[in-house]
Amino acid sequence: AIGTHLDLRLLIADAVTYLLPLVRGDRYALLLPDAKGSYALSFGQGLESLEGLRELAAFASKNDEVISDKNVVALPLAAKGITAGILLLGSPEAIVLDGREKSLLAAAADQLAVAVENVGIYEKEKQALARLTELDRLKNEFISMVSHELRTPVASADGYVSLFLAGVTGTISEDQKKYLPIIKDNNQRLLALINRLLDFSSMETGRFSIKKELISINEIIGQARQEVQAGLDLKRAKLTVSLEAREPNFMGDAEKMREVLVNLIDNALKFTADAAPEIKIAAANKGSLVEVCVEDNGRGIEKEYLESIFNEFYQVEPAMTRQTGGVGLGLAIVREIINKHHGRIWAESEGKGKGAQFIFELPAAERVRS
Ligand code: ADP
Repeated sequence: AIGTHLDLRLLIADAVTYLLPLVRGDRYALLLPDAKGSYALSFGQGLESLEGLRELAAFASKNDEVISDKNVVALPLAAKGITAGILLLGSPEAIVLDGREKSLLAAAADQLAVAVENVGIYEKEKQALARLTELDRLKNEFISMVSHELRTPVASADGYVSLFLAGVTGTISEDQKKYLPIIKDNNQRLLALINRLLDFSSMETGRFSIKKELISINEIIGQARQEVQAGLDLKRAKLTVSLEAREPNFMGDAEKMREVLVNLIDNALKFTADAAPEIKIAAANKGSLVEVCVEDNGRGIEKEYLESIFNEFYQVEPAMTRQTGGVGLGLAIVREIINKHHGRIWAESEGKGKGAQFIFELPAAERVRS
């Protein structure tokens, strides 16, 4: 019976119902060591006055021995050489124990010590978990606050740069014509990063919701392609799309699904090998599922990372990505979006230098019967 509770009071209360009859007792107290190592009453029943008992407890603890003195017996609860506490059992009458009773109590005390130690471990873990949960909440609050605060000034700066570029502030010089787009481009990158952080924080706090509308995957791929076209041109990348005639449809959030595809294509472009990047997108109906695959001929992913790359802030080679930008949130957000659509996404790769495939499947929309 000893050891089935993870609450110290319940554990001891339960144990004494078995132990007290052994000494014909009716009262007990648990003493725990304080910071200085001397024993103080933690809780008990009928033994609140410890006059003269502390010495007994200390003596029992020092000798790791069941000691009886008049009408009290002290059981040191020692596990692995450490005394976790002393259990005192008391009786209105003198307690006289024979050797057999003493060893029975000693054996019970050993068992109890392990259980008390487990309670301690459990309590510590509970506290550690509470602390981690609190830290997690603070992290989310921090990310959300910082990204909201950053967005306004960056969006404002971006707006003014657009005014310059549009010539609203007068003619701009050749040099300005060269540099302003660079400012604009960096502003846009910052905004994209901020939006990603905002997405992440709303995902963490459960505020991430998706719309449910009938979506054509072909259309989404087309839109995503437009969005990344500049990046494709810049890297002279070749993008081929193969679609099915019987258009795969599903219910979902068009904007978020476009984000998924843009993210995957961006990554395919970002983690490219030196050779000309080639990206292939294929969408197909697979029974009751719509399957989409984004394939690249880039630097590939080793088997051991295929799963962890979907974790928040995870990057296989952080130093390398630092040059390309990104914080390791893209795939975490992508997976969350796909999960919210009741689908699943995974990565496949033959290894380093062998390119990568990101495949996701979603439940297809039921076709309208004609
Ligand atoms: P980020 O792009 O900001 O680093 P992601 O969550 O999008 O974050 O990606 C996480 C990591 O997964 C990347 O840092 C990279 O190591 C790896 N990865 C993602 N896509 C590819 C890809 N197409 N080819 C090779 N590695 C990839």
